Amino acid sequence: MQPLYEGKAKQLFPGPQPDTVIVFFKDSVTAGDGKKRATISGKGELAAQISIKLFELLKETVPSHYMKQLDVRSFLAKRVEIVPLEVVVRNLAAGSIVKRLGLSRGQPFQPPLVEFFYKSDPLGDPLICPTHIRAMGIATDEEISQMADCALRANALLREYFAGLGLVLVDMKFEFGRTPLGELLLADEISPDTMRLWDARTNESLDKDVFREDKGDLLITYREVARRMGL
Ligand code: C5P
Repeated sequence: MQPLYEGKAKQLFPGPQPDTVIVFFKDSVTAGDGKKRATISGKGELAAQISIKLFELLKETVPSHYMKQLDVRSFLAKRVEIVPLEVVVRNLAAGSIVKRLGLSRGQPFQPPLVEFFYKSDPLGDPLICPTHIRAMGIATDEEISQMADCALRANALLREYFAGLGLVLVDMKFEFGRTPLGELLLADEISPDTMRLWDARTNESLDKDVFREDKGDLLITYREVARRMGL
């Protein structure tokens, strides 16, 4: 079957009912705007399982596109039009904010920080302000507040959940989409591809930084996260 959409790590297929899609996780992993890439057999399955469990966990807290698991590598979701923003929540400084603002890696943010990035491959996903988001017609002020609020609520729940597994949730990226009726839902995936997790004892990375920075075996790393999550 032809996908409706093919991204770097996932394919979307038409779902069995109107306004549903099948989200299928590929075995590919990319970093640096797709400049670094690899195929790792078994990675899609692990990212899917972790994502499904985290969407299930968030069900009562944040409305999302997730409907149900279909098989080991895919779930059924409500069809949404993705808002071209990456909503990043940071509990500790790491990654791009360290380079951009010269902060110390591991510096805590209390309260957690919310940042928006404009999803644009040609522009390299730049940081974008709420004033720009409004002026460019990407989202209304109300939607911007709603996305920030949902991202912070999801962060609070996931941070506590991972703390119980001996993992520090450093930061994570969320995407949102609009249903045909205009409802804003958490969308995309939630996995170690889209968040930073550090071992609480050793500060070792248990996320895609292992691939970005050649720090070890990504499959073993994701298996360890899945194991701690009881998967
Ligand atoms: O690179 P940066 O530090 O801004 O990333 C913040 C968080 O957002 C990290 O957890 C990273 O994995 C995630 N992210 C993502 N997709 C991107 C950019 C960042 O999932 N395109």
